[in-house]
Amino acid sequence: MLSEKTIEIVKATAPVLQEHGNTLTRHFYNRMFSHNPEVLPYFNRANQAAGKQQAALASAICAYAANIDNLGQLKEAVELIAQKHTSLQIKPEHYPIVGENLLASIREVLGSAATDEIIAAWGEAYGFLADILIGREAQIYRAAASVPGGWEGFRRFIVSKKEQESSVVTSFYLTPEDKGPLPSFKPGQYITIRVPTGDGLTTMRQYSLSAKPNSDWLRISVKREDGAGISAPPGYVSNLLHNSLTVGSVLDVAPPCGEFFLDRDLNDDRPLVLIAGGIGITPLMSMLQSALENSPQRQVTFIHGCQNEDVQAFKSTVENLKTQHANLIAHFRYLDPQKPLSSNGIGASKGFIDTSLLETMIGDRDADYYYCGPTPFLANMHRLLNARNVPHEQQHFEFFGPKEELAAFA
Ligand code: FAD
Repeated sequence: MLSEKTIEIVKATAPVLQEHGNTLTRHFYNRMFSHNPEVLPYFNRANQAAGKQQAALASAICAYAANIDNLGQLKEAVELIAQKHTSLQIKPEHYPIVGENLLASIREVLGSAATDEIIAAWGEAYGFLADILIGREAQIYRAAASVPGGWEGFRRFIVSKKEQESSVVTSFYLTPEDKGPLPSFKPGQYITIRVPTGDGLTTMRQYSLSAKPNSDWLRISVKREDGAGISAPPGYVSNLLHNSLTVGSVLDVAPPCGEFFLDRDLNDDRPLVLIAGGIGITPLMSMLQSALENSPQRQVTFIHGCQNEDVQAFKSTVENLKTQHANLIAHFRYLDPQKPLSSNGIGASKGFIDTSLLETMIGDRDADYYYCGPTPFLANMHRLLNARNVPHEQQHFEFFGPKEELAAFA
């Protein structure tokens, strides 16, 4: 346990760290990458350049400090971090590297205000959190390796099929090069892929599994990030996958993980509502297919909001599912439709996903909500569902980036 003194010092100094949050975390990452370049492959350079990673760490440190005497509050955050860390193969030996650079950065940024006592308290607090994460991460690694078909670290997969889902989204079907079995995963979980960066290093990205579990392949569906000029160049990995990966190419893949998943054992009797924004449809496709197959009695509502039909992935897949499953109702919501709105058994309309659409589709039914999409979409959904008094434990969401912007509505 942490000493009373440590808790007191960490809480008292938290506002100072918060005030210097972005400077501190920027200094920290620069310092760590120059002192310990071996950790570079674990970080996304685009997130670094855009300042997202720094903001994510700053908000995590502040949340930890604010709740240090009530760590139960951080249970969900700890699970999310542990899942992300294991997806990236973060190991116990990485924690001292982060710890040393973090403490040195506090000293270097705060100067004489960072007394030995303060540094010692933060060192103890960091070590305490690190032990919690290391313990949970060991469990996740063991579980991933011990399930039938499971593995530890990276396994080589062959691209067995490449399929265009829309003008910007392509699916990649992946089969193990060793021809061994695949593990079952929970619908909604993701895998991590590792690719070379051309300078002798590698980089990793997570991709949700976009089909229900099956014994033959894993499928990811990747949106090509085109970028927006000099300030935001094209996304590195998504373009590499779209442009360079062909049938027969080989990829390094880490095991499925993640805490955003459809739990078969829970609340099968409550209606299920799946709401996707843009490429956020990927984990929800896996959930949709699984729910329809496993719970034919359960009422399932599926809403996909996106720019237009050209960029929309899985439109015909959802239409086909609708013809096969009477318990599914679905709606496509387009911001800027390019064609006359056609229904094909599925409602379609123009605009944002809003209260009136939810009202029409769901009414006042008590339901479990799963949603995924870009940050503004997540913020909007969270606001809409709170306004409908949907309990926190019935709202589940996935975010495709560092968690920083979520702090505003978490
Ligand atoms: P990056 O190179 O990482 O760039 C990301 C963005 O930053 C781009 O828009 C780019 O324009 C911008 N950028 C690049 N450099 C800079 C710079 N110097 N300054 C400012 N901005 C810059 N994606 C999917 O397509 N499908 C999925 O199913 C999916 N599932 C995910 C699941 C999880 C759990 C997570 C965390 C992410 C998921 N993602 C998914 C997102 C995916 O991991 C990648 O983040 C995405 O493909 C972009 O990676 P990239 O290498 O192409 O872009």
